[in-house]
Amino acid sequence: MEQYTPMIRQYLAIKAQHEDAFLFFRLGDFYEMFFEDATKASQLLEITLTSRDGGSSERIPMCGVPYHSAAGYIEQLIELGHKVAICEQVEDPRQAKGVVKREVVQLITPGTVMEGKGLTDKENNYIASLFSEGEHTYSLAFCDLSTGESRTTALASLDEVINELSTLRAKEAVITQDLHEEVQKTLTERMNLTLSYEEPAAEKGGFAALTENITHSGMKQAAHLLFHYLHRTQKRSLTHLQPVVVYEVHQFMKIDLYSKRNLELTETIRSKNKKGSLLWLLDETMTAMGGRMLKQWIDRPLINRRHINERLSMVETLIQAFFERQEIREMLKEVYDLERLAGRVAFGNVNSRDLIQLKKSLQQIPMLKDLLLRIHNEEIQSLSRKMNPCEELMDLLEQAFVENPPLSVKEGGMIRDGFHAELDEYRDASRNGKDWIANLQQEERERTGIKSLKIGYNRIFGYYIEITKANLHLLNDSRYERKQTLANCERFITPELKEKEALILQATEKMIDLEYELFIDIREQVKGFIPELQELSRLVSELDVLQCFAEVSEKRKYTRPELTDSRELFIKDGRHPVVEKVMDSQEYVPNDCLMNKEREMLLVTGPNMSGKSTYMRQVALTAIMAQIGCFVPAAEAKLPVFDQVFTRIGAADDLISGQSTFMVEMLEAKNAITHATNQSLILFDEIGRGTSTYDGMALAQAIIEYIHEHIQAKTLFSTHYHELTVLEESLPQLKNVHVSAVEKNGRVVFLHKIKEGAADKSYGIHVAQLAELPSDLIERANEILAELEQKEKPDIQKRREKEQPSAVAEAVGQLSFFNESAAAPAPLSNKEKKILDELASYDLLEMTPLDAMNALYTLQKKVKK
Ligand code: ADP
Ligand code: MG
Repeated sequence: MEQYTPMIRQYLAIKAQHEDAFLFFRLGDFYEMFFEDATKASQLLEITLTSRDGGSSERIPMCGVPYHSAAGYIEQLIELGHKVAICEQVEDPRQAKGVVKREVVQLITPGTVMEGKGLTDKENNYIASLFSEGEHTYSLAFCDLSTGESRTTALASLDEVINELSTLRAKEAVITQDLHEEVQKTLTERMNLTLSYEEPAAEKGGFAALTENITHSGMKQAAHLLFHYLHRTQKRSLTHLQPVVVYEVHQFMKIDLYSKRNLELTETIRSKNKKGSLLWLLDETMTAMGGRMLKQWIDRPLINRRHINERLSMVETLIQAFFERQEIREMLKEVYDLERLAGRVAFGNVNSRDLIQLKKSLQQIPMLKDLLLRIHNEEIQSLSRKMNPCEELMDLLEQAFVENPPLSVKEGGMIRDGFHAELDEYRDASRNGKDWIANLQQEERERTGIKSLKIGYNRIFGYYIEITKANLHLLNDSRYERKQTLANCERFITPELKEKEALILQATEKMIDLEYELFIDIREQVKGFIPELQELSRLVSELDVLQCFAEVSEKRKYTRPELTDSRELFIKDGRHPVVEKVMDSQEYVPNDCLMNKEREMLLVTGPNMSGKSTYMRQVALTAIMAQIGCFVPAAEAKLPVFDQVFTRIGAADDLISGQSTFMVEMLEAKNAITHATNQSLILFDEIGRGTSTYDGMALAQAIIEYIHEHIQAKTLFSTHYHELTVLEESLPQLKNVHVSAVEKNGRVVFLHKIKEGAADKSYGIHVAQLAELPSDLIERANEILAELEQKEKPDIQKRREKEQPSAVAEAVGQLSFFNESAAAPAPLSNKEKKILDELASYDLLEMTPLDAMNALYTLQKKVKK
């Protein structure tokens, strides 16, 4: 330390407290970085690395970004998951003795960005905190700093934590140092989260009111971690933070991580983009906050029948009220992001344009309320009555601001004439002065006879009189004092000009100062309305999502689902909403689905590419759409309320493009099987195809039997193992359905039509033909197929009767979801049995290594024979 200059010592002291962040150290008009920060940042930001003398023998690496363009660089670092500590000069350099005092005024992190590219309009930006009391209990809290919304819940396993965090797409998590190392590793490596540490502590920093409704001690701790961290890093007013809402995951339909991904609810599997997802299809919201709420609704479908029906009935009314709906949409278009605006007001980074937007938004509310009252629906009218247009605030903003204020709040020109008497006086003085100067120019021109004489202004010399060199000889006036000589003109001042200038500048300066003061004062008054604005934005968002459902439902001819109490599910002419939209809807073949007590499980067979996956997904998407309160893509739909939806896809399915392995497939299947109830919907799409035929078939059958016997969830199971279709005979609640295909001129044509019964054959070779493999090859494949068909086919019925547990069944047992006895033994030939018996009879402890080698050799020979 000793060796360094005082400034570098100051830098190092501050840096020591912010080791995990890039320290942006303010030096004049630049933010500088030093040492390792500088080398790293220069690479990440592609800026020049220089160095400076810091008192030691070696020069110190340094790089910097200009103060006025720092925002872009900060965004880049945050985007990459880094943190940035903003260190400002906190005293006037002119008054400083020694090194200017500097302090970190804000820590910007991925979870706490308030503006810029890091914030997507229609997405929340959540920061989470995780607190663990024991091995398997976790409390999670999360907050969107830009909107002030926060929630907390208790979770029973790390899997649930992962599910929640990935649903939230949180970017940063606040944890305690002693959180289990494995958990920390999961958060950083698997979830790609930026971690931040905070010590557990009793409430401090004035957040008591936000957490007082939390009774659970873990949740309270999690909320404290979160708020303490926000308080410590943001170092400013966070008055927009709303009381934490406590929720439980089972208050909503549970859709785990894999299922969300597989169903492409909010992003597609391949490109991870919104485009092509259910969210994309549904998003007809007009406001950013409505867009965010839509995503929240999709992430958490309801399970309360009454609440679902309330939403559905509002959507129904809005569909019928076509003209009103168009008007609502027009009005919503004029409503800005009130929710984030309120957050920025609290944060102190709004300008007068933001407040103009706020005013314009508020102006829509009275009209919107009136319009909603004209719609005959109790829920919608009650929505209208709850909307508080904050008239006082609107009046204040109307009276205070001009229509098009400048961006900067420190240049004046924001406040209307007549709003404030003193301000008007300064303005008059300044305007009069400017008029006087304009007159002076005219007078001087006439007096001197120099037509091109003009009066200008710049920051250095103030007002001056400019005369071109060509006209200088005409000037004969002792009051003119030469100030500046340029290439082709001279600039002069006169005493009376300077006198007036002082008056003008004084008035202007006072005007600007006073405007700024007034602006701050108005902003403080707006702060007082934050809770009202937040409530208003919640209501507006809700209306926006409901009109969005109505709009999509009408456009795409969706129908209102009826929720049944019985175990019946009936969909007539159902469609996959996204596939239908992407392809020409003329071509989409609608399909029915009937499931009830006699047919809780459907085994879907049919050739590759015939539409099995699409069919199953359309059933799941229909259920989810119904439970978020939207109409569904069908001519008619009767649905039970599902508590959970599981979607699992066989590892080799092209939909995952080989990213998955068989083990993952099995783990995912296990997860579904352990959590599903008889109220759940399970889609198993070609489960078991990630392994060899017999293995796969055996597993598939065992899984079907297990669900049939132990879970009784509504299940759609697609398979290309034709052999499984005989299960219909032994399992009373299982029925075969198939996707039909017809052969025309030796080629297969898919009809995409679901029919009762099993598919009559497999069409693999025809698909190969469709793909235009060489005709020789196709012919040969047909030959081989014919040969194989001659040979003995595996007979499932026979296999089921055997008692002997097989190697496969044992392997399955290790996967632990078959602890009960449902595993189906796979076929064993006599030869295999003998070999296994022999293997079992070996007493390994009595054998020498050579004995063992020999025994193994003999066994292997038998197997190879
Ligand atoms: P499978 O799972 O049987 O291999 P998919 O469900 O993946 O088949 O469907 C293959 C393709 O067939 C889809 O990409 C889609 O273009 C088309 N398709 C599926 N179902 C339908 C349908 N009902 N109407 C029209 N085209 C469909
Ligand atoms: Mg498929």
